[in-house]
Amino acid sequence: MNQLPEIHEGVYLIGSPQLTAPEDCCVYLLDLGDLVMIDAGAGPRASGLLENVEALGLGHRPLAAIVATHCHIDHIGGIPFLRQRTGCQVIAHERDALAMETGDSRKTAADWYNVICPPIPVDYELTEPREVLKFEKGEILCLHTPGHTPGSISVILDHNGKRILFGQDIHGPFAESFGSDPAAWRKSMEVLLRLNADILCEGHFGVYRPEEEVQRYIRHYLNGYEGKQLEAL
Ligand SMILES: [Zn+2]
Ligand SMILES: [Zn+2]
Repeated sequence: MNQLPEIHEGVYLIGSPQLTAPEDCCVYLLDLGDLVMIDAGAGPRASGLLENVEALGLGHRPLAAIVATHCHIDHIGGIPFLRQRTGCQVIAHERDALAMETGDSRKTAADWYNVICPPIPVDYELTEPREVLKFEKGEILCLHTPGHTPGSISVILDHNGKRILFGQDIHGPFAESFGSDPAAWRKSMEVLLRLNADILCEGHFGVYRPEEEVQRYIRHYLNGYEGKQLEAL
């Protein structure tokens, strides 16, 4: 493995279609004393995520938690392996937790990918519109940003004067089988715009900065879906 990109001090990209497996979402690692992973990829190359943690020289640190931004298989499929290997906590919003725990093939989009979603345990369910999670040397804010799925969340890290937004599937898509709600999504995107994040770590398309680029990226999708009905998306 070549050098892994450090996005900001203590924030790394450790998984992506280029880094680990074509079906993987972008997987981010936060060094908060303990380690925190944002999403876990599709599963088959989950061991590659741990290899990348090793390659960063962080393999000796405990993986405290995986925060699942939503219940889609390309974001959560790696969780069972990683939880078993590291003993990490799995954190997800309560409105997506049942789909994970039952391995719901429609809500997890496993049927889209033509794979089986195993039951994925959730150790801690987020229930509030905003919730701060504290780790050894830092904290993250989890915002409930429904739309793509009912339990989609966005994660914010304020670190060294920069605000980093882990927005993951800002781009959608929307589908009835996911329980998508485009109207709720619009409201969620307005919330994200008001955060004035300096860096956006997206779920499939990588990293956007500075603030103007983050705003442009979110507005691009808001404008693109303007006036369209769910069936047409
Ligand atoms: Zn998704
Ligand atoms: Zn995705």
